[in-house]
Amino acid sequence: MTTHRRSFLQSIAALASVSALGGLEGCEQLPSRQISGSTSAGKPGLPTEKLADRVTLITGAPGNVVALSSDDGFVLVDSGSSSLARSVRKSLAGAKVRTLFNTHYHAEQTGGNELFGRQGAEIHAHEITRQWLATDYYVPAEDRWVKALPKAAWPTKTFRDKGEMKVGEESIEYGYLLEAHTRGDIYVFFRDSNVLAVGDVASPSRDPALDWYAGGWLGGRVDALEDLIALANDQTKIVPAFGPVMTRAQLKVESEMMHHLYDRTTELTDHGRSAQDMLDAGVLNEVKRKFDDPLRFLYDVCKGNWAHYTNFGGNIV
Ligand SMILES: [Zn+2]
Repeated sequence: MTTHRRSFLQSIAALASVSALGGLEGCEQLPSRQISGSTSAGKPGLPTEKLADRVTLITGAPGNVVALSSDDGFVLVDSGSSSLARSVRKSLAGAKVRTLFNTHYHAEQTGGNELFGRQGAEIHAHEITRQWLATDYYVPAEDRWVKALPKAAWPTKTFRDKGEMKVGEESIEYGYLLEAHTRGDIYVFFRDSNVLAVGDVASPSRDPALDWYAGGWLGGRVDALEDLIALANDQTKIVPAFGPVMTRAQLKVESEMMHHLYDRTTELTDHGRSAQDMLDAGVLNEVKRKFDDPLRFLYDVCKGNWAHYTNFGGNIV
């Protein structure tokens, strides 16, 4: 099943482009993406937590930013929101950022791109993330357009599959997580420090978000979580976009929940059932997780299922 789902998705992903994607309904509201020195000037640095000798977690940006130190400057995973980017920089004591990875295109992960990009950071991301950031797009849930970011904020090094680099003593591996939350999600694995940044593909504290308008869906999420579990070991520190650092065991719990929800909701979608039907059928009562907005989550699940119905049956009645 997984293999079929994945091979189908890969063929679709190869064809994907921004014009085909059309718009966004992201995991979060998108604030203005312009950097504003006046609103962020004077803000203190953000809380930090040491994850390994070379790796520090910056929290409250408003999500998590992972920073690897090297003699040649920092490697960051995600840049925070535009209003908090200067606070992220302060947390680095003003040191240079040589490399910035974007786990996906959402504003809370890419709002600092312009700040760090203008200061010379090389920005690495999936090609589809670059397309989102470089293009005006429509947000259907809010009936508005979001302007493309300035060119300085665009990823300068893009990829479609996976890659690795060596920074000082650290081997860094990164790769695609197909349609897990958007259509451009990646993980970044600091192999020697054993810290794995996974963006919004894991969601220990917030409702798991499926940006269906940008290609995310439950089937992609299930596959991606399996990939991440295979990368990690029992000592790996797994950093989601929001919430506390996770263990592999905790990621497995989330993965099992998603597997169950995938099986149940695709069966119901196959029978033409709506998000409200799924809620009424008690699907979310079958998992331990408590959802802040159960109907919203199921709505996004349904949208994603409908967009991928040929992956799990293809004969909806
Ligand atoms: Zn997101």
